Amino acid sequence: MTADYPKDPECIFCKIVAGDMPTELVAESENAIAFNDIEPDAPMHVLVIPRGHYERIDDLAKVAPEQVGEIVQLAQKVAEQEADGNYRLIFNNGKSAGQGVFHAHGHVVGGKQLGWYPSQSPSY
Ligand code: AMP
Ligand code: ZN
Repeated sequence: MTADYPKDPECIFCKIVAGDMPTELVAESENAIAFNDIEPDAPMHVLVIPRGHYERIDDLAKVAPEQVGEIVQLAQKVAEQEADGNYRLIFNNGKSAGQGVFHAHGHVVGGKQLGWYPSQSPSY
């Protein structure tokens, strides 16, 4: 089923989608998968990604907005499964916004009481 999705052979998240890189899968849907972040920053820290390779979530929104909705629904499912149903969903878009992996992904964070530092920088 993945044959029709755009792919980047160099992309680490495309390798996870293809099953070529081990991961802790948490949930999945038709066009998206959810897996544990390798460096968790909270008791629940899961990444939700489209199966297709799009650099940013806004790129996906332009071509398949219904998949963005599907990703939000998958995030909620993860939060119900892994925490109390509450969650923060973060998309870093572009290098200066903190994006390090250029395959769109949402961070589903929770499992504890969260504070609010929306524009925290690495030198904070
Ligand atoms: P960002 O900085 O928003 O691009 O987030 C990239 C996230 O991907 C970071 O939180 C990393 O810890 C995470 N990450 C990188 N490689 C892997 C991997 N192989 N499996 C799971 N998470 C990963
Ligand atoms: Zn990719």
